[in-house]
Amino acid sequence: MPNIANSGTVEEVNRAVDLAHAAFPAWRDRTPIDRSSVLQQTAALMRTRRDDLAGTMIREAKKPWIEADADVCEAIDFCEYYAQQAMQLMPPRSLEEIPGEDNQLWHEGRGVAAVISPWNFPQAICCGMTVAALVTGNTVIVKPAEQTPGVAMRLCEILWEAGIPRDVLQLLPGPGETVGAALVRHPQVATLAFTGSKAVGLDILRAAAETSEAQGFIKRVICEMGGKNAIIVDASADIDEAVLGVRQSAFGYSGQKCSACSRVIVLDENHDLFLRRLIEATKALVVGDPLLPGTDLGPLIDLEAAEKVRGYIERGKREAKLELAVDAPADAAFVGPHLFSVERGGTPRIAVEEIFGPVLTILRAADLDEALSIANSSGYKLTGGLFSRTPSTLDRVRREFRVGNLYLNRGITGALVGRQPFGGFGLSGVGSKAGGPDYLRQFVDPRVCTENTLRRGFVPPPN
Ligand code: NAD
Repeated sequence: MPNIANSGTVEEVNRAVDLAHAAFPAWRDRTPIDRSSVLQQTAALMRTRRDDLAGTMIREAKKPWIEADADVCEAIDFCEYYAQQAMQLMPPRSLEEIPGEDNQLWHEGRGVAAVISPWNFPQAICCGMTVAALVTGNTVIVKPAEQTPGVAMRLCEILWEAGIPRDVLQLLPGPGETVGAALVRHPQVATLAFTGSKAVGLDILRAAAETSEAQGFIKRVICEMGGKNAIIVDASADIDEAVLGVRQSAFGYSGQKCSACSRVIVLDENHDLFLRRLIEATKALVVGDPLLPGTDLGPLIDLEAAEKVRGYIERGKREAKLELAVDAPADAAFVGPHLFSVERGGTPRIAVEEIFGPVLTILRAADLDEALSIANSSGYKLTGGLFSRTPSTLDRVRREFRVGNLYLNRGITGALVGRQPFGGFGLSGVGSKAGGPDYLRQFVDPRVCTENTLRRGFVPPPN
């Protein structure tokens, strides 16, 4: 595994931005097909190193094998999808044909883009934001999460090998508070692509709104933030499916996914049976070394995260009923799955705040009205789900459960590029969905040129 220090400094940010700014015009003016083919080549290289890349991630991000492999595959999908999308978006196109007038619309990159990425999908998310910015003609500085600079290094090495020049793509690992904050505020960084916590995202949005005299543009921010995602289980739900769907959504990668289920709202008729079954199913999860293929949950990303989650568990014991605490290895970074139940009307903090760990709260609702009202009560609007076999309930929940990605009768994690474009609204972020048809538009400025083509003779070229 590459051993990368987070040693970037503010001086290095300034140097990197100067280099990226100088490299921008030539990269912007390369043909769309040129840039798209570099992404296709990147995807092909990643495919040949799939296990190797997953191995780096298992060691650095402690992802179990199956999740690490899915993360690598998602990165490959992003490269291929955005390569195709760019070929639709970037070439100039003629607008309305009028005799004597030629109108052309095209899109071009905005300048230097900073990619500030999280550790939980260290390859897929970092790759998605990076290649979207590159394929649309921007130069990019990647500032990965402090926990996963090695995965980001492997990604950049492949992009350089595929043909991205070194000044067009730079990697700058360093602390968020210094390197990240300096990139956000630099007057020559035109686009900020961020995925991470709400607190940092809101800080970036505030900082980016300041437009200094030295700045010839308004910064654009693509900001994907957290979630407090719920699944509703109604009285007609198939309990076998619901239990497995909820278990995987809540405890896959120890709940350290923005899309993870952290609230399950069960209608009275099914509540006790569902809870009993979920407890038994959760006991079967294996907590241990993520290098072993049979492991379901590894340690949390670091001790700080584990301490924070343990704090929520202690709070949960006071405010709700602890139904299950699965044993975990004695190492302080491990936290086993925890289930809490809450009686009707209760709103403990564990059912409101994003915990980002293996903690699931089961809430009881009298009917669908109440279930929807609990589900929609969060300011986060990222993912949500329903298990039901009643068509009218499926219809109503589709309309009234307001989240960015809603899943019916399946788990709520594991969105696929192109098939389930991903992203939320409300406090879950601004910007259009990653892996969807509008995503690349955020990285470009549109231009139109109108030419009067009525003949008035041409000046011959000079001899
Ligand atoms: P984080 O906000 O702590 O860090 C994200 C990135 O921001 C890191 O690179 C970090 O170094 C950088 N950063 C930190 N402080 C900064 C500052 N002041 N200025 C600029 N950059 C700064 O998030 P995390 O712990 O890495 O990731 C977990 C969070 O990400 C969760 O809240 C999760 O829900 C969210 N997330 C959202 C999505 C989505 O698509 N909506 C996807 C994955 C993760």
